Amino acid sequence: MGNCWHKWTHHPKRIIIKKYVLYSKKTLSPPLISLHIGVASPIISTFKKTWVLPNKFLTTNKVKEVSYKIIHRYYPANHYMQKLKKYINTNCSFCDSHPETVNLLFWLCPYTKKLWADLSRFTIDYLTKDFVLHFENVVFGFHNFSKREGKCYFLINLFLFLAKMFIHKSKCIKKIPSFVIF
Ligand SMILES: [Zn+2]
Repeated sequence: MGNCWHKWTHHPKRIIIKKYVLYSKKTLSPPLISLHIGVASPIISTFKKTWVLPNKFLTTNKVKEVSYKIIHRYYPANHYMQKLKKYINTNCSFCDSHPETVNLLFWLCPYTKKLWADLSRFTIDYLTKDFVLHFENVVFGFHNFSKREGKCYFLINLFLFLAKMFIHKSKCIKKIPSFVIF
């Protein structure tokens, strides 16, 4: 019994699960941390895929960095920056009508929504008809698709990385993000 317990407590899968639960408690919403210990979880496999996804593309480190900061919740959106800069304008850099948090800047702002809607339209017209984009796809990418759709979703994931970088750049240069310019 002692030997079995030693084997389990030092099993690599258990260590990965333990680390992931700690990570989830810090960063994700509660439903995602319900794991069956000892069973290979689809959440963990998705997390691993998310982790290696940026390395599939020949993009600059800056492109990867923007996504990395969003996933790890330290993207410097104005709302969070007020802790460091007291007199900063905390409103959205694009519309100036709501606090600038990550999900508002990258998803809910009307200008960003328009960009994602145009990108989705383009994807439906030229890549795949059954395309629906959610905020979790913007953050983590697409991982569940058939082999046949592999090439399409390779491009779609690349577009997502570039679009997040484009939104970040637009914020920096204080320009409204537009699909035509993207
Ligand atoms: Zn806005």
